[in-house]
Amino acid sequence: MPKKILIIGTGGTISSIDTGEGLSSSLPVEEILYFCTDQLKDLDFQADIRDIINIDSTLIQPEDWIKIAEEIELEYPQYDGFVILHGTDTLAYTASMLSFMLRNPAKPIVFTGSMIPAPIEHSDAINNVADSIRFAVDGCPGVFVAFNHKVIRAPRASKIASEDIDAFASVNEPPVALITSRDIKYNKKMIKTTDMPFSVDTLMDNNVFVLKIFPGLEPSFVEPIIANKNISGIVVESYGAGGLPYRGRNLLDVLANVAHKIPVVLTSQVVYDGVNLKTYEVGLRAHNAGVISARDMTKEATITKLMWLLGHTRDIERIRKFFEISLAGEVSPAEKAT
Ligand code: ASP
Repeated sequence: MPKKILIIGTGGTISSIDTGEGLSSSLPVEEILYFCTDQLKDLDFQADIRDIINIDSTLIQPEDWIKIAEEIELEYPQYDGFVILHGTDTLAYTASMLSFMLRNPAKPIVFTGSMIPAPIEHSDAINNVADSIRFAVDGCPGVFVAFNHKVIRAPRASKIASEDIDAFASVNEPPVALITSRDIKYNKKMIKTTDMPFSVDTLMDNNVFVLKIFPGLEPSFVEPIIANKNISGIVVESYGAGGLPYRGRNLLDVLANVAHKIPVVLTSQVVYDGVNLKTYEVGLRAHNAGVISARDMTKEATITKLMWLLGHTRDIERIRKFFEISLAGEVSPAEKAT
């Protein structure tokens, strides 16, 4: 029996045409697949298509994440795997959030897109779509990003280039697989199977604020923003291994004051290695002020994990505990407690 794959279109460069006023998402999935006919001719599979939205992913909203999750929930029993075509700009956010919403998938759910529109000669759409379908047909369970012949665990993917076709990195862990023209080379240690039942949990609270620090940031600018009663949690983009400035301009005290009311999670402006609040005195002070470490999570996974957790609890200590454990492979085991 050929494997049944559902291909869900949401837009992005992959579906774009040049309108004369910039690239605009408009091609349906059917037309994108047409360009991949040659690559897929020897693969035994049956595809169905759903164009659920067709937008530049700059315009993606949390409601769209729920829509994608609900579509997969509805169709889960009917299909062996899912491929989601998505704009690359916010792909890592959507894929990360979906890896929290889709609990224990026993089937492949693969996000992809392209840097060059599908109709343009030598577009990377052709390889990316063909690789994603081949990977979905192969049956490896989990939520993934397939891009430029790499398969990355979804909450470890970050966009690192705005033009290069090798646009996504697997952050702080190796890719799950590399796809060659002949086969799929798995990194066996990265494959997680589960006996737990599949479920979909779309509860979340997107009232999160992200604060990027820089030398000279005035605490008096920050105070009125984070005093907003509608903010449920804060992600602070700090530097390197993590810390908060207190010399001259005291952001440490400003954030310490809110950290006992709402969760304040510290991530880093650097892409690799992540936060370790034990390394520096500035980090330990942030830790002692009650700030939660995002450890080696991507920024996208940190923000979406906080939103998803806030949909389930407001309890800062519970959220702190959940940041210490992996829900979807987004964080490495905690040998380092902070
Ligand atoms: N702006 C586009 C988008 O995110 C970029 C892309 O898809 O590569 O929809």
